[in-house]
Amino acid sequence: MSEALRRRFKEQIKAMFGAEPQKPALIEERAQKVHELKRLTNKAELAAAKEAHRARAKHHRWRNRRWLTLILVNLLFVVSFQLDIQILEGALTASRFIGFHLIDLNSALQVMLAHKHIITNLLIGTATVAVLWLLLGGRSFCSWVCPYHLLAEWAEKIHLWLAAKKLVVDQPIDRRLRSAFWVVFALLALLTGYTVYEAISPTGIVSRTIIYGAMSLWAFVWVLALLVFEIFFVRRAWCRYACPIGLTYGVIGIFSPLRIKYTLATCFHEGECRKVCLVPHVLDTVIKGRAVDIEVPIGPDCTRCGLCVDVCPTGSLKFDIKGLSKLM
Ligand code: SF4
Ligand code: SF4
Repeated sequence: MSEALRRRFKEQIKAMFGAEPQKPALIEERAQKVHELKRLTNKAELAAAKEAHRARAKHHRWRNRRWLTLILVNLLFVVSFQLDIQILEGALTASRFIGFHLIDLNSALQVMLAHKHIITNLLIGTATVAVLWLLLGGRSFCSWVCPYHLLAEWAEKIHLWLAAKKLVVDQPIDRRLRSAFWVVFALLALLTGYTVYEAISPTGIVSRTIIYGAMSLWAFVWVLALLVFEIFFVRRAWCRYACPIGLTYGVIGIFSPLRIKYTLATCFHEGECRKVCLVPHVLDTVIKGRAVDIEVPIGPDCTRCGLCVDVCPTGSLKFDIKGLSKLM
């Protein structure tokens, strides 16, 4: 890894905890040459090429694969419970997949903080989940499994439709809030002895509702209020600025070999990817003059949702396995 990429990697970890990405101080020479070449390209030629790319039909290949996976995983819980076939028992917080215990990392942490000691049985299930999501990309849990993500994605579509009609305006919040919430929920568990976060987690609420078919009135009102807030006030508020699960899996994503990779040479910097991304701070590298190398891995806060891969007209963003192969 080049020195410029090493620095960027550290910046992206800081960005995950809420820091704003900065203009890079060091850009590899080969990347500088590409930036310069782009600067010298005839402006009319570039505009025509951009227009042609923009006009190209968009596809939803990765989004469709992801939605299908998310629905199937959650349905497997339902089928296992309803038919008592014991393939995937429990809910997303704690489950058993053909005998293997799986405990959500955040839930395990909350339980241990509430009980104030390390519970060995929980550690085994947690380690399995940590290894699983390390291999599969950390926050890919969010976009490929979390049922609230799907609801929020649909709410986001309504928000964007209303925003296009100038009926609502997104009001971004300081991203450091998510790290603050992570600490607050951990402290609440430690001080009260209750897993407070579990009671309000829309991930757990929606997962249990899908499986067991019942939701208390307050839980229904809470999830609905979150979605209404996201539609009318703050785009993707919960996932962007509050959910500690997303941050925990983001930390796992630091070590994951599965990521999105950016190629500078083919990019027109029109920014379509940043418009669809849940975490646009990870895509600051696509801004003109920002890429520190000719190929740049996207940071750990990326949910590996594939929306940018679908929307990029030049194929400059692709799934990639570190040191192995290009998937798309
Ligand atoms: S940030 Fe939280 S609620 Fe959003 S998708 Fe991830 S786990 Fe689900
Ligand atoms: S960078 Fe791409 S894959 Fe990652 S969260 Fe954003 S849109 Fe999804």
